[in-house]
Amino acid sequence: MANDASTVFDLVILGGGSGGYAAALRGAQLGLDVALIEKDKVGGTCLHRGCIPTKALLHAGEIADQARESEQFGVKATFEGIDVPAVHKYKDGVISGLYKGLQGLIASRKVTYIEGEGRLSSPTSVDVNGQRIQGRHVLLATGSVPKSLPGLEIDGNRIISSDHALVLDRVPKSAIVLGGGVIGVEFASAWKSFGSDITIIEGLKHLAPLEDENSSKLLERAFRKRGIKFNLGTFFSKAEYTADGVKVTLADGKEFEAEILLVAVGRGPVSAGLGYEEQGVAMDRGYVLVDEYMRTNVPTISAVGDLVPTLQLAHVGFAEGILVAERLAGLKTVPIDYDGVPRVTYCHPEVASVGITEAKAKEIYGADKVVALKYNLAGNGKSKILNTAGEIKLVQVKDGAVVGVHMVGDRMGEQVGEAQLIYNWEALPAEVAQLIHAHPTQNEALGEAHLALAGKPLHSHD
Ligand SMILES: Cc1cc2nc3c(=O)[nH]c(=O)nc-3n(C[C@H](O)[C@H](O)[C@H](O)COP(=O)(O)OP(=O)(O)OC[C@H]3O[C@@H](n4cnc5c(N)ncnc54)[C@H](O)[C@@H]3O)c2cc1C
Repeated sequence: MANDASTVFDLVILGGGSGGYAAALRGAQLGLDVALIEKDKVGGTCLHRGCIPTKALLHAGEIADQARESEQFGVKATFEGIDVPAVHKYKDGVISGLYKGLQGLIASRKVTYIEGEGRLSSPTSVDVNGQRIQGRHVLLATGSVPKSLPGLEIDGNRIISSDHALVLDRVPKSAIVLGGGVIGVEFASAWKSFGSDITIIEGLKHLAPLEDENSSKLLERAFRKRGIKFNLGTFFSKAEYTADGVKVTLADGKEFEAEILLVAVGRGPVSAGLGYEEQGVAMDRGYVLVDEYMRTNVPTISAVGDLVPTLQLAHVGFAEGILVAERLAGLKTVPIDYDGVPRVTYCHPEVASVGITEAKAKEIYGADKVVALKYNLAGNGKSKILNTAGEIKLVQVKDGAVVGVHMVGDRMGEQVGEAQLIYNWEALPAEVAQLIHAHPTQNEALGEAHLALAGKPLHSHD
């Protein structure tokens, strides 16, 4: 550790996940003297227990599906099964490569990295390993952990969270996934590809309930086709152990049994016992409250990432961390437009979106001022080659900009980059239609959808 008791850092960061380390890297780049305190591994949830491991599992699942379906493409291959230790080896190899890279970055930017469990001890200091680390400013970035429901105890064996699911030593014969949000549908998708019998329980009306209803319905259709079962619109009541698994009962008395129950009902902030309230930081149900510049009510304290009540996404954490570093370094910063954050659910098929749903647009602009257009991927050559079905739905303010792009289909997450430029640059359909999209790509489907919305459809009906 490169500091002594007299060092006063420009910025002391508590938590080295996406939000904390992004602030550290950007702050150091801008010449701030930064201390980063992490009790576990830099990279946090996303790198070690979230984005990266889940996407590795989903990719392994995709390969399993491709082996099963190879005959359709004239390729002779047989699917023999999943070698779980080998899948973990592949997944852990990806994580450790990225982890080493990140550790190298932190060291090369000359961030003072302190390993240990920290606690906010004043508005300008964090105590860790019996030492007081002083800063002109403190950034709280302690992230989140899996939540459960009242009376539902996660035992790590038959009733598990995403943390346990990522290190499970077998493919469960059957699983109930409690929660049809992003994490729930991603595990349901990967496990189904691995050969499990899956049932998702979602209390709201749809899977992926935060997405445009059209995307949810397309996902449900695709999951039904894949044999992924789901029960929508009724809430969980209780879970009990059976001789060899778990039985879940819903509020209407309906029962489901499986080998394991994955609880994917959301994540809660890590803030209890860390001194936040004692130092006067305003909180709401464990979340730290911030303004649009990520400032708490205490002038020397900011907070970012899953700890604050904004979208729980790694790239949101990055953006919020960068915003804080730039603000403290005296750069001009602008608040984040959270509707403009791209969102991808990496199940098979993928669901990707940016901007607002048709329903929200109608609420904001009035039903008669909103135009929606659906482009079916059946007309897209590359999607046909990949044998994926889905749609791109555009939501436009009448005679104005595109305010929502909602996509379903394998690999459509990769298209969210252009979609976010369209939304964030407030593009008109005719402006996007003017841009040439490469043929045959799935990206072309975005171009075609805008051609259609601009009144000059090419490979779609008028
Ligand atoms: C299964 C799963 C899949 C996901 N997939 C995606 C995805 O595909 N794309 C996406 O964008 N997001 C995804 N996410 C969400 C993403 O992981 C989070 O939004 C992101 O990690 C939040 O970053 P953070 O820095 O706020 O918190 P975290 O990443 O949780 O980091 C907080 C860090 O603080 C440390 N810490 C906590 N308390 C202390 C303390 N007292 N002292 C020292 N250190 C402390 C923790 O050890 C941790 O490393 C996924 C999450 C899960 C669980």
